[in-house]
Amino acid sequence: MVKSRTETFSGNKGLHLEELLIFEQGAAGRSGVDLPDLPKVKNRLGGIERQSPIGLPGLSEPQVVRHYTRLSQKNYSIDAGLYPLGSCTMKHNPRLNEKMARLPGLADLHPLQPQSTVQGALRLIHTLAHWLKTLTGMPAVAMSPAAGAHGELCGLMTARAALEDRGDARKKVLVPDSAHGTNPATAAICGYVVEAIPLNNRGRVDLSALKAALNDDVAAFMLTNPNTCGLFEDEILEQSQAVHDAGGFFYCDGANFNAIVGRVRPGDLGIDCMHLNLHKTFSTPHGGGGPGSGPVVLSEALAPYAPLPWVVHRENGFELIEHVANDVDAKPYGRMKAFHGQMGMFIRALSYMMSHGADGLKQVSSDAVLNANYLLAQLSEELTLAYEGPCMHEVLFDDRFLEGTGVSTLDFAKAMIDEGFHPMTMYFPLVVHGALLMEPTETESRESLDQFVETILNLARRAKSGDKKFFQKAPLYTPRRRLDETAAARQPTLRWRPVLETEEAAE
Ligand SMILES: *Cc1c(COP(=O)(O)O)cnc(C)c1O
Repeated sequence: MVKSRTETFSGNKGLHLEELLIFEQGAAGRSGVDLPDLPKVKNRLGGIERQSPIGLPGLSEPQVVRHYTRLSQKNYSIDAGLYPLGSCTMKHNPRLNEKMARLPGLADLHPLQPQSTVQGALRLIHTLAHWLKTLTGMPAVAMSPAAGAHGELCGLMTARAALEDRGDARKKVLVPDSAHGTNPATAAICGYVVEAIPLNNRGRVDLSALKAALNDDVAAFMLTNPNTCGLFEDEILEQSQAVHDAGGFFYCDGANFNAIVGRVRPGDLGIDCMHLNLHKTFSTPHGGGGPGSGPVVLSEALAPYAPLPWVVHRENGFELIEHVANDVDAKPYGRMKAFHGQMGMFIRALSYMMSHGADGLKQVSSDAVLNANYLLAQLSEELTLAYEGPCMHEVLFDDRFLEGTGVSTLDFAKAMIDEGFHPMTMYFPLVVHGALLMEPTETESRESLDQFVETILNLARRAKSGDKKFFQKAPLYTPRRRLDETAAARQPTLRWRPVLETEEAAE
């Protein structure tokens, strides 16, 4: 039965096909392959064998191909369109990187191969480490962390190892109010008490509040620069001085390095440790094509405590150090993961760096900042800026422009989906009411930015014209309309259960 204008009999919408779960499609006994019958063997399981069917779906090969092809088409991705998520740096993943990562000599490696057979891979890790140190002006880097958050944990564990080594068991970590949620979460997981530092009215850390909170119980201060309001922390030298004067370490969240790569060296700012999200700044995929990667650069003071393993270049080749006995100067606190780091991401990141060169990387940050300020200038016509003045690689609006319209930031974002745009980051950072955080990245063309701008301006005018119903009904064109996202997060249904025949009979 056709229920409304936007619903069809089949559930399909044009050539966007409705797709059942694979379990709902399967039929017992159907298979895409023709296997020989099992030979008869004596049962030696002693009565512990499974009594019920295993519950795997039975499908033919074309059913499986269609299922996964349809699922893949439901994904929105950077390859499909503009992805303006602030804080996430969703930039294009150059195909050259993919080609390099698929070279058989790299793709077919096994982490347990003898070192003599993987000299090229070790050299690649060593070279990437060299460029990460060069770009950040830091003397050491821990390559193994698997994501930004994992890198934060690595950084704080390194700082803790250094503090413990000098018999200084500090208990507190200071985190600005605007920080990404992973910062306080990391500090808490590391066993620290988290204390929030407020922002000033310029959207930057309040220096006097930071100074007031610093004492001999503070292990570290975690700053993001540029911060999550898209603003450069222009008092960072005073901050690092104050943190060091109090005997603490200065952690920098490097997720926004895309805004300053090739222009600012964090090592010159007094930073002790900083993670780099290779999947943000250095264009490796966010999931899908592989996991992320979050190497952590370290200052002279923290370098001796870096986690295992690391690569060294000796006269007779490259060596992967996995035990301290081989490297007596080091005092690693342990290791972050079983193997050596996300090799596939290392290849892509190095390919990205080498294909851009020093001038290219400098242009990356310039263009990222230019594109964000283009959005700032164009959208300020209808939207309200959270903090006056130019931004870095992302621009932050608040919801004052929606005041009195009955339209919320969420309604606005849903209407963007109908227009074919992935929404920006919403309600983050928490310090700004109804935040809309947009990051175009340097890889968007002027044309795609203009299309985005026109759409956003049009929606803003529509909201102000009093068309609140339009927004509250959005999205109209998605397969499931508006979802109860709170219930989905609080009571997720993670397991499919078959409808039992008795239940069906009762209905
Ligand atoms: C993305 C991000 C993180 C976390 O990085 P993951 O790689 O997603 O774990 C931390 N801080 C900021 C500011 C970020 O944008």
